[in-house]
Amino acid sequence: MADIEQLIASEQHDRLFVELEKMGKSCPDADSVRVGSLAEAVGAANGVDSKRALQWLAEQFGIMPMDLARPVCSTKAEQMFRKLARQNVAPDPWMPFGTVGLVLLCAHFDPSAEEAWGIPDFLYSKILVSSAQYEALKSDVAQRISMNPLPESTLLEFVEGPAKGGGLLTALKWILEHYPMSKSENDKLSACESAFGNIDMRRASDYKLLPRDFGVAFNFMTSGRPIFAPELAPMQDFFPDNLLEKHTVFPVYRSESAVYLMAADRQNYSFEDEWYSTGSDSLKIIKVLADPEGIREVISRNRGRSTSGGSTIVDVGDLAYADDANLVDIDPSEMQQINPSNINTSPEQIIQWVLYQAISRRASDLHVEKYFNTARLRARIDGELHVIHSGPDEILPRLVSLLKNYSNMGQRRQTAEDGRFSMRIGQRRIDCRVSAIPCSKALQKITIRFLDKKDGIKELSELNLSPRQSSIIKNTLGRDQGLVLVTGPTGSGKTTSLYAFINSIISETINIHTVEDPIEYEIEGINQTQTDPINGIDFGEGLRRILRADPDVILIGESRDEETASAAVNAALTGHLVLTTLHANDSLRAVSRLISMGVAPYLLADSLALSQAQRLVRRLCVQCKRPVAVTDAIRETFNKNKVPLSPETAFLYHPAGCPECNDAGYSGRIALMEMCVVDTELSEMIACNAPQSQMREVAQRAGVLSLYQEGLLQVIAGQTTLAEIACLSYTAVGD
Ligand SMILES: [Zn+2]
Repeated sequence: MADIEQLIASEQHDRLFVELEKMGKSCPDADSVRVGSLAEAVGAANGVDSKRALQWLAEQFGIMPMDLARPVCSTKAEQMFRKLARQNVAPDPWMPFGTVGLVLLCAHFDPSAEEAWGIPDFLYSKILVSSAQYEALKSDVAQRISMNPLPESTLLEFVEGPAKGGGLLTALKWILEHYPMSKSENDKLSACESAFGNIDMRRASDYKLLPRDFGVAFNFMTSGRPIFAPELAPMQDFFPDNLLEKHTVFPVYRSESAVYLMAADRQNYSFEDEWYSTGSDSLKIIKVLADPEGIREVISRNRGRSTSGGSTIVDVGDLAYADDANLVDIDPSEMQQINPSNINTSPEQIIQWVLYQAISRRASDLHVEKYFNTARLRARIDGELHVIHSGPDEILPRLVSLLKNYSNMGQRRQTAEDGRFSMRIGQRRIDCRVSAIPCSKALQKITIRFLDKKDGIKELSELNLSPRQSSIIKNTLGRDQGLVLVTGPTGSGKTTSLYAFINSIISETINIHTVEDPIEYEIEGINQTQTDPINGIDFGEGLRRILRADPDVILIGESRDEETASAAVNAALTGHLVLTTLHANDSLRAVSRLISMGVAPYLLADSLALSQAQRLVRRLCVQCKRPVAVTDAIRETFNKNKVPLSPETAFLYHPAGCPECNDAGYSGRIALMEMCVVDTELSEMIACNAPQSQMREVAQRAGVLSLYQEGLLQVIAGQTTLAEIACLSYTAVGD
């Protein structure tokens, strides 16, 4: 075994040494190269010390060196790899780990290595890593391939690439002709191609119409010069965040003498000018092309992370809120200096630090409360509460009073009160809805809901709908009258769905009115009314008022009483499309809920167009999810629920945990939607108040999938896990 390894190693050296000699560089004595120290040995032979060796070797070959944050192949890279690669025929090929648009990022410890699974050299970008990182990456890739072997050949291996020196349009045309992709991807890119006309642009940033990273990928395909994916860059604390933000650059690798810097434009030297002019040392700066939007994201993520030492994510959104009252400005770089447990930290600093942490970690709400003898501040992240900070309970009244100040509330402790304030963190704006609830012994609990416009109003296409679900929604929203119910517990994403539905039908010819409590997002082009209990405007009264304005489409925030529900049904029977939410466990229980509230069954039968039940489940982290083989027991679970796994499905994904997801294995959430379209048969059953079980059978026959079945589909799609949807198994088929 040892002999074979030795042989492989020396073959590697031979090719590398020939290349180096061609360049006029010195080579070490082949026998003196120890396993795993190739870069150091080659560097030493050329008078380069070991700290600069990797960078020196990379520079000779015009590629980028790197210390991978995690030496594993991302799921996205694996998918692209499977499209482009065939089985490997030689030892030690380039190993895939990331993607930039349509180009694969591959790593090796030997810059002269040639074998790359039959992937043409203009479709993978080379990164030089240490031998140790290469070995770790290799075993990860080997494991992935053993789960699901690669094909024996690839169509692309001997295809000629786009003309070198051509512009981006040259690359786009090549992609449309040769690259393996779905019809919808191809249609999208074809549309871009015709939009560009015949102008062959050179700069990646000129291609704003293209999907993220594509301009960068096209530049690589025709220039062969290094590119990188910002989301894979390791965090840094060498350059000031503000300087990076100002010039939209971010370092990927730094040695003693040089730094590789991601930039949207290789020809722009403004960063160097400013860096050198501050008297900083004369590091050699080498530009690597990357997408500007991605660079901006990694800068904010770096900011968030360096405060806590753990993993945090801050998205930069370009948000505009009309209401600038009560603006709390939080400076991210100031937050990095704060230690909330330090006795000298003021209550105001603590509260701002906590708000900053909560937002950085994508929390949906924050709870400020007394817990035994402590003041406890917890944030809900992906549906679960996490303690952000706890301190002595003496500070609680100060924290509560500050938050009430921010939101213009009175300081009385005995009354429940609601208020709001806006928060600005860097370029991001977040709307905060605050409620104060009196608790025992003159104490209060404060709850803050964070509303981020960017998270709030989604396009239909962002809801992760299946083609079947999409067509149900389009048909339903295309009706001129009828009732659309969305049900689910608080925090199930009902409002997000409703806003996306409404957003998709906004047009000049349709008159849309809403009555909401509160108005969570202001939407251009629709009329929104806020309930106002003090002046007697509840949902029912609000609905009566907006009916006078002759609306076509009505959104009622929630039907929580008989009066509102009946009024909604009546409006839906008289030429209006009415959308509303209701608390119910599933789509058919919503029907019986409305009937038990006092709505006449025959009226509901005539008006109800669609009943949708919804839940959020955690989404697997795409950076670290792992394929795990499917067992017979799992296959049986799918069969029993009438969502059979195809025979080709050999594995499903499990959570692992990485710095990206705070070791949770999950990041973000997805909505499961059970959509029950009310057809003639169901309508007749509703009219005669048929039992749940009978309606359920009919719905199943008509193709309605339960929440659990929708969950199983998401498990197959690699979005979530069986454990995550287990709590929905009460909606499973059969017993
Ligand atoms: Zn992860």
